[in-house]
Parts: sequence; structure tokens; C-alpha cells
Amino acid sequence: MVYIVGAGPGDPDLLTVRALGLLRSADAVVHDYLVPAEILSLAPAKAERICFARRGKTAGHGAVMKQNAIHKAMVRLAREGKSVVRLKSGDPLVFGRGGEEAEHLSREGIPFEIVPGITAAMGSAAAAAIPLTHRGRSSSVTFVAGHETGSKRETAVDWSLLPKDGTLAIYMGVRRVAVIAEELAGAGFSPDTPFAIVENGNRPEQRILRGVLSDMPRSAAESRVRSPAILFVGRTAAISPYENTEEASDEPAAQGV
Ligand code: SAH
Repeated sequence: MVYIVGAGPGDPDLLTVRALGLLRSADAVVHDYLVPAEILSLAPAKAERICFARRGKTAGHGAVMKQNAIHKAMVRLAREGKSVVRLKSGDPLVFGRGGEEAEHLSREGIPFEIVPGITAAMGSAAAAAIPLTHRGRSSSVTFVAGHETGSKRETAVDWSLLPKDGTLAIYMGVRRVAVIAEELAGAGFSPDTPFAIVENGNRPEQRILRGVLSDMPRSAAESRVRSPAILFVGRTAAISPYENTEEASDEPAAQGV
């Protein structure tokens, strides 16, 4: 049996009870580099651990090879009769290739179960008290990947198709903040659209950076923002009840948060 389990954004307290139970009884744990040691240590010491590093790897052929290796490892361990936990950061079905892995297991006739986790956008939003939807300000939230395509000068996203009256939660975007800001402006997002970057959300090193779109590249460069981080764009990104800003308190819907 393979359990494809979401580990949440990094804080062990944000694991689900089911994830914790499965980890504690795992015979083998196959995990990504983003899952912190503190969470991995919840598995029995005798459990086999296999880490697949994504950091520093390029997309394309290399990534496909690595994904195949993950598929093979899961199938081998399951056929050995082990209870395999395939541990992914956040939620397995949000930019986690959980779907590809489930398809592979299904083709190989290996039983599997998917256990959801708190995706980084939700964990980071809570950490910064940024509402993803907010009465009068945002009636939608879009999870979008901001990483590169083959070309260094553009992302694969058609930003003009995304709602300007909602919240964008951009994953894997911090290394391309300047390109993303430029593309958003080109797609008609106003220069004074608020943004917030949550770096290492729900972890001890967490940092939060806020501003407006026209200033985002300079601000992110100055603060040396690094991956992993979520980039929020939209009017909700200016709401910060933790900091008790006027911006937050002058909206009826923000009161009582
Ligand atoms: N399946 C994961 C996403 C994996 S893609 C999920 O549902 O969260 C990796 C991206 O997730 C990173 O580039 C970053 O954008 C985001 N991410 C993961 N952990 C994060 C964290 N603790 N804080 C902020 N962003 C994080």
C-alpha cells in the first residue's frame, strides 16, 4: 500500500492526524527535500527513508528521470509488502505531482490512498492573516505556478486570463519576481495592486514582505527573498489584521478577525 500524504507547509503541528498516524506506522518514507527533518523524525527510526532532491535540478529531462525513479522506488517498496508513505510538502495534489504518482500506482496495480495536506498558499495566508477571499475585495483565489518555461524571459502563465478582482497565490515564483511583475503589468494589473510575499511560511525563519506591484522587484531583491515562498497578489494582500493596519480595520468585513 502506498499512502500519498501531504505534510503541510513545514510546521509539524500542521500535519493532519491521519498523516501523523501513517507516518508513525510507516515501513518506508519516500519524501521530497522540502519536508523538514522534524516531520521525518516522526516516522520510526527503523523505517527506510528515501529523499528525492529537487533543489538545483533543472526542469525537463532531468526532472522526468527523477520522477521515474520515484515511481520505481514506490512500486518496489510496496511490492516488498511495506506500508509506504510518499510524503510531499503541502498538499499532494497542488503542484505536487500526486496525480502522476497515483496514475502510475494505478497502472501497476498497487493500492494507494491520497491524504490531503495544508497547501503552502493556505498555510502562508494564515501565517500572514491574509484572507484568500474577503467580502467586497476578493471572491476568488487562484493557485498558479510562476516558474519558468524554456525561455528565461517569460513564465508559462497567461496572466490576462486570471481574475483581477481575486487573490492570486503564486507558487515557485520568487526567482522570477521581476518577470512576473512585468507580465502582470502587461496583462492589465494596476501598478498599485498590493502584493505580499511569505517566505518560509509556518516555519521559524518565516518572513513577510508587503508592498505594491510596481515596487515588487526592487523590494524582493532588497530583502533577498528566497524559495520557498508564496507570492500573493490582489487587494487582499494589503489586509494585515495581525499588524492592525488602518487598511484592515476600515473594512467592515475585516472587523472581528
Ligand atoms: N505541494 C506543495 C507545493 C510544492 S511546489 C503545496 O501544496 O504546498 C513548491 C513551492 O511551494 C515552493 O516553490 C513555494 O512556492 C511553495 N512552498 C512550499 N512550502 C512553502 C513554505 N513553507 N512557505 C512558502 N512557500 C512554500
